Amino acid sequence: MQLFAIFGNPVHHSKSPFMHNSVYKELDIKACYTRILLKEGSELKKRFLELGLSGANITVPHKEAAFEACDEIRGFAKKVGVVNTIVNENGRLVGYNTDAEGFMFAIREFENVKRILVIGAGGTAKALVQKFLDEGMEVTILNRSRKRLEEFAQIDVKRYTWSDFETGSFDLVVNTTSAGLEEESLPAPKELIDVILDNARYVADVVYGKLTPFLKEAKKHSLPFKDGIDMLLGQGVLAAWLFLGKRYDKQQIEEAMRKGLYLS
Ligand code: NDP
Repeated sequence: MQLFAIFGNPVHHSKSPFMHNSVYKELDIKACYTRILLKEGSELKKRFLELGLSGANITVPHKEAAFEACDEIRGFAKKVGVVNTIVNENGRLVGYNTDAEGFMFAIREFENVKRILVIGAGGTAKALVQKFLDEGMEVTILNRSRKRLEEFAQIDVKRYTWSDFETGSFDLVVNTTSAGLEEESLPAPKELIDVILDNARYVADVVYGKLTPFLKEAKKHSLPFKDGIDMLLGQGVLAAWLFLGKRYDKQQIEEAMRKGLYLS
């Protein structure tokens, strides 16, 4: 029996166990997937090995610590320094990032997206921003505080905090912060959110499982929006494909995973 897990803090909200366990059930795989509350990111590798995990997902706020914990990093994760999926290859931790692909899957219906405003500058933002730039999009970042914005200094993006933000018009506005996850807060002051949404075409939030205050504002502005559920599915399908040694078809995994997602 293989054991997989998601590490995070908080982690009780995670739907990943339902999704992955549904794949194991539907595809008749002897495996189990659980949640682990991890307070210190520096403990990740130790806990992973102690538990004898075959693989893990990593969520807020440990994705950068997960990058540090790995023995090898592959693909897109190398570019962004952020890992959300770890596969145990003969005792070596191999890190990947499936969030950015998962997000592109989620917004596949949004047309002609060229200018994007990313709210937040954490691990998820890093992955999405790099992916948007790779896709030739123009990116602006708005974050609550200055420190994390500095980490984007070497790439071609506009960076603002709440106090110096200069608005523009955006095809897509994405909330990558955890505002609205545990409490009912907006990712930026209401007056900024209003100006931003007055000049936007589409809205997305990475938080899932609820209509966040940010998405409620999008609704009030009559804008088409997506919550984080399709991103969750997209990143999960890729993670499961990696966990299971690329032996299964992604379409097959997606169908099995959807069942778990909507049961949960
Ligand atoms: P990080 O801890 O790396 O970054 C958090 C960011 O959010 C920082 O920029 C921080 O700003 C900002 N922030 C936190 N709280 C607030 C607030 N109350 N108001 C405004 N800004 C705030 O987190 P991650 O990037 O790892 O995760 C962010 C969210 O994305 C989580 O909710 C996670 O569940 C979700 N997620 C969803 C996925 C999906 O599949 N749907 C996939 C990946 C992530 P500052 O720098 O000022 O502290």
